[in-house]
Amino acid sequence: MAKKSSVELYYFGKTRTDRNGPDGKPVGKDILGGKGLNLAEMTSIGLPVPPGFTIPTTVCDAYYKNGKKLPPAMMEGVAEQIATLEKELGKKFGDSKNPLLVSVRSGAAVSMPGMMNTILNLGLTDESVKGLFGAGERFAYDSYRRLINMFGDVVMEVGHHHYEAEFAKIKKKYKVDVDTDVPTEGMKELCEAYKKVYKHATGEDFPQDPMVQLERAIEAVFKSWMQNRAVRYREIEGIRGLLGTAVNVQSMVYGNMGDDSATGVAFTRDPSTGKNEFWGEFLINAQGEDVVAGIRTGIPVAQMAKWNKRSHQELLDIKNKLESHYKDVQDIEFTVEKGVLFMLQTRSGKRNGIAAVKIAVDMVNEKLIDKETALLRVPAGDLIQCMLPSFESGDKKKATMIAKGLPASPGAAVGYPVFSAAEAVKFVEGEQKKVDEAAQGGTKYKARKCILVRTETSPEDIDGMHVAEGILTSTGGMTSHAAVVARGWGRCCVAGAGDVSIDEKAGKFAVGGKSYTGKDVISIDGATGEVMLGEVPRKEPKLSGDFKQIMDWSNEYRRLGVRTNADTPEDAKRAVEFGAEGIGLCRTEHMFFEEDRISSMREMILAENLADRQKALTKLLPHQRKDFEGIFKAMAGKPVTIRLLDPPLHEFLPHDAKAQKELAETLGVKPQQIAARVKQLHESNPMLGHRGCRLSVSYPEILVMQVTAIVEAAINMQKKGIEVLPEIMIPLVGTRAELTLLRAKTQETIDAVKAAKKFEGTLDVKIGTMIEVPRAALTADEIAKDADFFSFGTNDLTQMTFGFSRDDINSFLPSYRKLDLLHEDPFASLDQSGVGQLVAMGVQKGRKTKKDLKVGICGEHGGDPASVAFCESVGLDYVSCSPFRVPTARLAAAQAAIRGKKK
Ligand code: PEP
Ligand code: MG
Repeated sequence: MAKKSSVELYYFGKTRTDRNGPDGKPVGKDILGGKGLNLAEMTSIGLPVPPGFTIPTTVCDAYYKNGKKLPPAMMEGVAEQIATLEKELGKKFGDSKNPLLVSVRSGAAVSMPGMMNTILNLGLTDESVKGLFGAGERFAYDSYRRLINMFGDVVMEVGHHHYEAEFAKIKKKYKVDVDTDVPTEGMKELCEAYKKVYKHATGEDFPQDPMVQLERAIEAVFKSWMQNRAVRYREIEGIRGLLGTAVNVQSMVYGNMGDDSATGVAFTRDPSTGKNEFWGEFLINAQGEDVVAGIRTGIPVAQMAKWNKRSHQELLDIKNKLESHYKDVQDIEFTVEKGVLFMLQTRSGKRNGIAAVKIAVDMVNEKLIDKETALLRVPAGDLIQCMLPSFESGDKKKATMIAKGLPASPGAAVGYPVFSAAEAVKFVEGEQKKVDEAAQGGTKYKARKCILVRTETSPEDIDGMHVAEGILTSTGGMTSHAAVVARGWGRCCVAGAGDVSIDEKAGKFAVGGKSYTGKDVISIDGATGEVMLGEVPRKEPKLSGDFKQIMDWSNEYRRLGVRTNADTPEDAKRAVEFGAEGIGLCRTEHMFFEEDRISSMREMILAENLADRQKALTKLLPHQRKDFEGIFKAMAGKPVTIRLLDPPLHEFLPHDAKAQKELAETLGVKPQQIAARVKQLHESNPMLGHRGCRLSVSYPEILVMQVTAIVEAAINMQKKGIEVLPEIMIPLVGTRAELTLLRAKTQETIDAVKAAKKFEGTLDVKIGTMIEVPRAALTADEIAKDADFFSFGTNDLTQMTFGFSRDDINSFLPSYRKLDLLHEDPFASLDQSGVGQLVAMGVQKGRKTKKDLKVGICGEHGGDPASVAFCESVGLDYVSCSPFRVPTARLAAAQAAIRGKKK
C-alpha cells in the first residue's frame, strides 16, 4: 500500500504489488474488491497483467459518508500512482508522443456483472490522441471517439443515442453500412461531432486535462454503486453489508489494433454443463466491452488456434495455472495486443446448479479440492436446477422449430413472448393477481408464464429477466452479461438467435418472413439454443451420477435429519427417492378436498348434532385409513408424523351462491341452510380463530375418527409385514392443558382401536405437538411434559411473532424491502434474531424437561439453506420440507455441519 497521502491506494505491477493494509496485514476482497484483489494476485503469480492501481472500497464508503464528496487527499494519491505507472511503462499521462491511457472499472467484493460503470481509453485528449497515431490514425480517433462517448454517457449522463445519431450521419456521408468501414477522416470528424454533442448537453467542453477526466471517472464509478440496476441486483442476490465498490485504474491494452489483436471472455470450464472444456469466445480487432455488452457475437475460443496458435497456447497455460491457483472455475477476460497476450480479469465463474455439481465432483476426482470444499461450493438452493424438467427429443422433433440461438443457460422454458422488462413484470404480476383472486373464490388458476424476448438484454432489464420463465435474445454471445446473469440465476436463456428480428414497439418478432406476437406461445431450450413454436411437453429430470455423489457426500457430513412434508403416497415416494428419511408433516386437511370425500366433509361440518356429525365422519374414516395405508407403505420403516385437522372448517365450504346451491342439491338441503352455516362459521381473524387443536377441543369426534384411521392403517400395514412408525401431532397448542386433554383422548382412542382389533403386537404410536404459537415456545418446558416430540411450525410462529398475516405479507413487503426494514421475506427465510429466539428457547426448555426430546421443524423454512443452518446451530434433530427441496436441505445440513466444524 502506498501512503504518502492520507488515502490508501494499492498498486499492482512490476514496480511493486501492494497487498497489505494500514495495519501491515494483507487486505482482502472486502477492501480491494474481487477484481482488484485478483489483478494483484495474478500479477504476483507472474501472469501478464497490465499494471495499475486500486482505490479501495473504503474510499467509496467515505464518499457516501461525506455526502458524496471524494476525500480531499484522494487525487494527490492518485497522482502518485499515475507517476509510478508512467515510470514503469515509460509513458506519460496526456502526452502527445507516448501517452499513458487507462481504463477505470468498478469491482465490489461480490461480482455484479455489468451492473456498474466502466470507462475505457481515459487520458485521450486533442493532444494525446496524436501519440496513438503510431498505431494508426484511424485507430487513434476511433479510441478517442469511444472515450468521448463513454465518458459523456457514464460521467455526464449524455444519452448514448445522441452519439449514435452522429455516427449514423457520418456513415451516410461516407456511404458505408458498418462502423469499421468509416475511413480515418470520418473518425476524425466524428470526434469533433461527439465533442459538440458533449458540449451541447453539458454546457462545457470535453475535458482536456487527463487528471480531470480521471477524477470524474472515479466519482462516476462510485456513483454507479447506488444506481438502480446495481441496487436491484444486490436486492435480488441478497448482497448486503458491503462497503461499496473499489475502483481499478489500469493501463490500457488494445484488442482493436488490427487483425493481430483480439479480445475475449472465457471460462476455464463450461459454466452451463460443468464440462472440463475451455469455454468462451473472442473477437478479432475489438474491445472487451463489445463482447460483454453482447453487441457482437464472438468466435468460440476453441477456434482461437486457427487465428493465433501461440496466444491460444499461452491462454491455455494460463487457464491451467489459474485453476490450480484458485482451485475453482475462473471467468477470465483477456486481450491480445499485436500478438501479445494480457490478462484483464479473473474471478470465480458464475455457474448454474448443474455445472456447480459437476465441477465440484470433478475437482475432487482431480484432487484439486477436498470433499468438504466441494460441498461448500455448490449453493444448496441451486440444486433445484438439477431437478428441472427438460424437453424430450421426440417431442422436439414434432414441434415447429422457428429459430436457433446459442445455448446460453440450460433449462426448458415455455411461455408467452413479452418484449420489455417492464412488460414481463406486469405480465407476472397480472398472473399472480389472477391466482390470488381464484384462491379467494375457492378455485384454482394456473398462472401463465412469459419469455422475455429482446434484441439484447442490458443490465437495466434485470427485473424482467428475474421474473421471466426464460430469456431469448437475437444478439449477444454466451459470455454477454445477460447470459452470465441468467446462468447465475439458473434462468433458461437462448442468446444470439440472429434470425430473430424484434420489434419491441409493435410487440412482435419475426423469423424467416413470419411474424409472432405476445399471443404465440414459444418453447425455448437453453441447453441446445432451439426456439420452437407452441408448448412442447416437458419431462421429469433424471438425477445424474454427480448429483447422487453430492448427496452421498452430504450424508457423510450432516448431523441433521431431513424429512419431508407430504400428504400423498406419490409425494412420499418421490421424497424418499430424493433422500427423505421420514415424513415430518402430513397435513390431513388436503385429503378432504378430494372429490370422493369433500361432500362427506361438508356433511360433517353442516351437521347440527353429534349423531349426524358422527354419521358423516364414519363415511370419511375408510378414505382416511386408505390414505394412511398408502403413506405408511411408501415410507416403510421411516417415521411418519401425521398432523390432526388444522384449518378452520369454513375453508371446506363453498362461499359463492352458485356453489352453495349445487352443494344444497347434492346434500338434499336448502341453500339457505348452507348460507346460514357459512355465515355462522365466519370469523374476523380465521388464522387466530377456531382451528388447530381448538377444533379437537370442540369436536373431539373428529380427532377420534382421525386417530382411529391412523391406528387401523398402521395395524393393517404391520400385518402385511411393513414396518410402521406413526407419530400423531397436535397442532396450534398454546397451553399444556390443551395438550394434556387431547393427548389423553388420543391415547384412549389408540388403546380402543388396538382392543377392538385385538391387536397384540407392538405398535408404538408417539404423540407430540407443534410449537407454532409463541406461548407454546415460552412454556415449552411445561408442554414437553405431555409431548413425545416437538415440531416447530414456523409458518404460524412467524405469523404470530411478527403479527404479519402469512397470506397478506405481499401487500406490504415490497415497501418494507425498499426501505430496508426487512431484508428477507420472514416466511421464506427464518427471522433468526426474533422468531429464532423462540425456536432456540423452545428447544432448550423442552429438553430441560425431557433430555432426549425429539425436535424438528416443518414450516416452509425447513427447505431454506440459511434456516437449515440455523436449525443445525440450535440443535434440532431434523428439518422437514417439500419433496423437491429435500436435496437442498440435505446439502444445506452438510454445509452447516462443515461450517460449524470449521468455526
Ligand atoms: C406451520 O405453521 O409452520 C405449519 C407447518 O403448519 P401450516 O403451514 O399447515 O399452518
Ligand atoms: Mg401451522
